[in-house]
Amino acid sequence: MSRTGIIGDVHANLPALETVLSAADCASWICIGDIVGYGPFPNECVDRIAGTAALSVAGNHDLGSLGALDLAVFNRDARMACEWTREVLEEEPRKYLESLDAVQAVGDRLVVHASPRDPVWEYVSTKSQALDNFLEFGQRLCFHGHSHVPLVFVKGTGMPDDAEDVEAVVPREGREIELEDGRRYLVNVGSVGQPRDGDPRSCYVILDEDRGTLSFHRAAYDVALVQERMAEVGLPPFLIDRLAIGR
Ligand code: ZN
Repeated sequence: MSRTGIIGDVHANLPALETVLSAADCASWICIGDIVGYGPFPNECVDRIAGTAALSVAGNHDLGSLGALDLAVFNRDARMACEWTREVLEEEPRKYLESLDAVQAVGDRLVVHASPRDPVWEYVSTKSQALDNFLEFGQRLCFHGHSHVPLVFVKGTGMPDDAEDVEAVVPREGREIELEDGRRYLVNVGSVGQPRDGDPRSCYVILDEDRGTLSFHRAAYDVALVQERMAEVGLPPFLIDRLAIGR
């Protein structure tokens, strides 16, 4: 089977992660980072990713929760969630997170959390940013996340620095995007654990190499259960509320 699931921004949301892993029939999984932060199940989510994903990279919340980034650069709620995560993180999950690199290249794929030129922090939302990033990597496909909004930039076969040669594609649920010869793809896989595109359902991507396609999928999980657990452990109300609206 040639189907690879690509997921990320799990954000310690175990019910969302379990729902996605059981909804998709994939031979292997890749994770673009931010396994922890915001949500109430950091140890469980790291264990699950460590046991399931062929590879993962580290995101800013993973690094923040390890103490590897200065938490002053996070907003108040994100910082509080990182601090809580750091307190509860057990030894094995901590070791796994510490083992992750910021960038992984496998064959014709690059995997980063935020962007190829700034794997930890850059939000890629414009064609001009996408073009700058296409110049930073040579692979056909780059999978990333960080903005929690699914989006695909496609670089055509024109000059490498031609901004007109970049197309932005807003993926539609279940619709296949054909991977064309000569074109390159910067693929934001959306978020499993805290979507922000107005759809609270988990987002994930399937790369089907036999068919030469990418497709984006959504899966509804038990939001209320996660919200209850977040309240129990004292995570910030704003983070609890946003799960229900996907913003
Ligand atoms: Zn994130």
